[in-house]
Amino acid sequence: MLDNITWFGHDTFKITGGHVVYTDPYKIKKPDTADLILITHSHFDHCSPDDAAKVTGDKTVIIAPKDCAAKLRGNIKIAAPGNKFTAAGIEIEAVPAYNTNKNFHPKSNGWVGYIFTLDGKRYYLAGDTDLIPDMMYVKDIYAAFLPVSGTYVMTAEEAAHAACDIAPKFAVPMHYGEVVGTIKDAERFAGEIRRLSAGGPKIEAVILPRH
Ligand code: ZN
Ligand code: ZN
Repeated sequence: MLDNITWFGHDTFKITGGHVVYTDPYKIKKPDTADLILITHSHFDHCSPDDAAKVTGDKTVIIAPKDCAAKLRGNIKIAAPGNKFTAAGIEIEAVPAYNTNKNFHPKSNGWVGYIFTLDGKRYYLAGDTDLIPDMMYVKDIYAAFLPVSGTYVMTAEEAAHAACDIAPKFAVPMHYGEVVGTIKDAERFAGEIRRLSAGGPKIEAVILPRH
């Protein structure tokens, strides 16, 4: 299940298929070559120039919001909410990500999450966000990566509600075990999804092992 996805902790995923996608590379131990790197915002644990460099090759395309892009090197495209790209043969849409009841990620910063299509499957990387109305428009998702730690982002319970609104095939918790949040948050997220989705569309919460 989700064999093509590797979790390296926090919001760092490697998704493989026809191309290789890395998200928010942070604390990368083993150098690799991504076709596409998606970075959600400029906080140090998401936009890490040294870690991005470790998975950047000659042909890698990096997509990041403006303030983060300024710190990076390589073939960079600047993303704002609503922007669409085709890069490395992958369709990508930058979507809003922001706080509604705290001020760490103001909407006015223009930080993002991403929807991208790899091998015909749509993935949603939420970024650092609360449960926001914009998520109503996130549909037909194969796997959704949702933050669960609380404090700077959604709580596990809010993230479970987001998962039920989005109704992906698979809901994957992230943003715990590093900086903030623990495996307990991921477990509460999975439990809440089971409870909330009983009798509704089948959503499978998958807690990926950390590599
Ligand atoms: Zn952040
Ligand atoms: Zn964060």
